[in-house]
Amino acid sequence: MKFLTAKDVEQLLLSGEDINAALENAKLTPSARDLLRQPINPRSSRNGNSTVSNQSNDLIDTPWGQYPDPSIGVEKFFTHPVIQRLKEDICDIGRRLWQRAYVDGNGGNISIRVGENLALCTPTLVSKGFMKPEDLCLVDLEGDQKAGQNRRTSEILMHLAIMKKQVKAKSVVHCHPPHATAFAVAGVKPPTCMIPEIEVFIGEVPLVPYSTPGTPELGRQIAELADNHNTILMANHGVVSWGKNVEDAYFKMEIIEAYARTVVVASQLGTELKTFTKPQLNDLLEIKKTLDIPDSRFDLKECELCDNDEWRPGITCTTPSTNGNTPAKQDVDPQTEELVNQITTAIMERLNSPG
Ligand SMILES: [Zn+2]
Repeated sequence: MKFLTAKDVEQLLLSGEDINAALENAKLTPSARDLLRQPINPRSSRNGNSTVSNQSNDLIDTPWGQYPDPSIGVEKFFTHPVIQRLKEDICDIGRRLWQRAYVDGNGGNISIRVGENLALCTPTLVSKGFMKPEDLCLVDLEGDQKAGQNRRTSEILMHLAIMKKQVKAKSVVHCHPPHATAFAVAGVKPPTCMIPEIEVFIGEVPLVPYSTPGTPELGRQIAELADNHNTILMANHGVVSWGKNVEDAYFKMEIIEAYARTVVVASQLGTELKTFTKPQLNDLLEIKKTLDIPDSRFDLKECELCDNDEWRPGITCTTPSTNGNTPAKQDVDPQTEELVNQITTAIMERLNSPG
């Protein structure tokens, strides 16, 4: 049994040898395993430095250089170790979506762009909690399936529309987390300036009108927002988010769902919800710029920030006060009103009757 370090694995990948054969009788160090878990750029070691440290520079010149060259043939591409790792990552994220009850039945879908014109995606009619790497599909950016034994998700067009519009979208996740989806069903955009986390990593969450899932129309509407928004609510449907990798896209789901749940719970406490100030939001937007996360509010004036005009927390409406104040007439139900009228009439008749 051979032990392979990160250095050994890096050299194997660069040599173009059959990595599966090399791994067969070998044990991996934790850092070697980590290295295999991330996309590798074969050109990144040209200066003799480590793969990881040079990766980001090389990604700028060759955005798809981290993945195998599709000209090796579709089956070889689809089963390449780098692609196999990404399939495992998708299965892992699927499990996390299911465990958190963000997906139900066969719902939800996940994709990763793996080339100029290629994306891995989840299949239709399979629970996202129990996928195996061999269940996944490969499609081109028009949605035509290129590899995989299962049929690709019908909602892939929405993912691909985002990827075509927003080059930073390397992965897209769609699911139905209940609290965020409740806002989408109520037709309410989540309020802002309440929790820093969502302002920095997501920002304002827009709501697109309902379109039938899987239609190009829905993809078109969502793509229009993908420049400035990484997380979008779809009316009467669910949430879609994009990120620089699949975990990043999934994190957006945890953030929006935790936020929506917190706001719903806070709304039930019966007091007005507090917000931080516009200058305080501005501070967060400055942090956000340094993280290179887009936000539609970067160009707004400070006075235009924290605009929660649409936020109507219906459930915070307090019941009418009963301490001595007469309730307004419209608050009295018709039966009570009728009874009051009868009693008043009876009293008046008594008072007016002689003797
Ligand atoms: Zn859906």
